[in-house]
Amino acid sequence: MQDFGSTINAPVFAISRLRMRTDGKGITTLVAFMGCPLNCKYCLNPQCHEPIYEADGTTPRKNIMLLTPQKLHELVKVDNLYFQTTGGGICFGGGEPTMYADFITEFRKICGRKWKITLETSLHCSDKVIKQLSEVVDHWIVDIKTMEPHAYARYTGKTSSVQKHLTSLQMNVPPEKVTIKVPLIPGFTDRSDLGHDIKEIVRRFNFIDIVKTRYRTENR
Ligand code: SF4
Repeated sequence: MQDFGSTINAPVFAISRLRMRTDGKGITTLVAFMGCPLNCKYCLNPQCHEPIYEADGTTPRKNIMLLTPQKLHELVKVDNLYFQTTGGGICFGGGEPTMYADFITEFRKICGRKWKITLETSLHCSDKVIKQLSEVVDHWIVDIKTMEPHAYARYTGKTSSVQKHLTSLQMNVPPEKVTIKVPLIPGFTDRSDLGHDIKEIVRRFNFIDIVKTRYRTENR
């Protein structure tokens, strides 16, 4: 195999094989990265916020793998046949996968175009990263939280840039490559907010695949 000589490392806390119907078409392996710029009240994967290293600052903590794209490829290629025969591949999530744009870009060079690469993201990243990833990602699953800026700030602890990020996505990625998740967030949004958000996403951004979800509140 070609040696890409990668020096890029990414901390991964889970590799989950043989997923069906959760990350779009085909059989996929979920690769979950550590770290996220948001701090959602009901975070689904709170372990992504924990420290990556032991006290020495260099040894990854238990259950965290520090991987190069090449090493990840070696770990996941066992399902190559499943990916190719079902139209599946790798779903990068976390945590926030857009924090690892260079890693994903290099991984694409290694795995080639026959595997589908999906991102599960909040899209809380720069326009530059969205543009970079648009070259290598086949499908984007975007959980917007809410379009309402005050509820967004209360829920995530961060100022909302959802409109800006959706604009960037619209400019760089065709709508058939995008699924937008609009969650009902108990204590933060209600059904009428969902209806309003969906209308706005269709009217302003032309995305067509929009999925309503509901968050569980027991995670925090
Ligand atoms: S965006 Fe996802 S990983 Fe990040 S804090 Fe929110 S729920 Fe957790």
